[in-house]
Amino acid sequence: MGHPDDDGEHGTTEFQPSADDLVERNRQAADAVKTPGMAAAPSRHVAVVTCMDARIDPLAEMGLTVGEAHVMRNAGGVVTDDIIRSLCISQQLLGTREILVIHHTKCGMCGLDEAAFSADLGQRLGARPSWPICSFADPADDVRAAIATLRASPFIEHDTAVRGFIYDVDTGLLNEVSVSS
Ligand SMILES: [Zn+2]
Repeated sequence: MGHPDDDGEHGTTEFQPSADDLVERNRQAADAVKTPGMAAAPSRHVAVVTCMDARIDPLAEMGLTVGEAHVMRNAGGVVTDDIIRSLCISQQLLGTREILVIHHTKCGMCGLDEAAFSADLGQRLGARPSWPICSFADPADDVRAAIATLRASPFIEHDTAVRGFIYDVDTGLLNEVSVSS
C-alpha cells in the first residue's frame, strides 16, 4: 500500500470501472497467459508474502515465472491468520518448503495511526473494524516479528527456510533483514 500522497493527486479524475476493459484485454492476452498442463504446485517450492502495493510486481522483482511460486499479498505484507492459512495449505497440499517475507519502502501501512484510522472508519462508515489493522512503525522490525510468528506457528513446518527482506521501490532491489537467531 502506498501513501495516497506519494504520487500526486487521487480522486481528481472521474472514476470509471475497469472490468469491461479488463475482460477485453483478457481476450487479447489469453493465449499468452494460459497454462494448460501446468502443475498447481509451485515448481520452486517457495511462497512469497508481500504487500498489495501497486508498484510491486513480485514475480518480475525476483525473476520468477508463472508456476514457480505462491504469492500471498495483503496490505503491508503482514503475517495474519489468513496468511498462515494460505501458507499452511501451500505447504501441506502443494509442497512449498520456503517462505520469503517481503515488506517495502514507502509502504502506507508503515506509520499508519491505527486509532485514528479506526475512529475515522467509525465516523465515515458507521463501524469500527473488528479485525486488526496491522500497521507497523518499522518495516524491518515487522519483518522480524513476522518471521518469529512463522517460527512459532504450529501450522508452519518447523524446517521451513524463512528469510525476510525490504524491497526498495525506488531502486528495485531487495535488501535482506538480518534476524538474530
Ligand atoms: Zn505496502
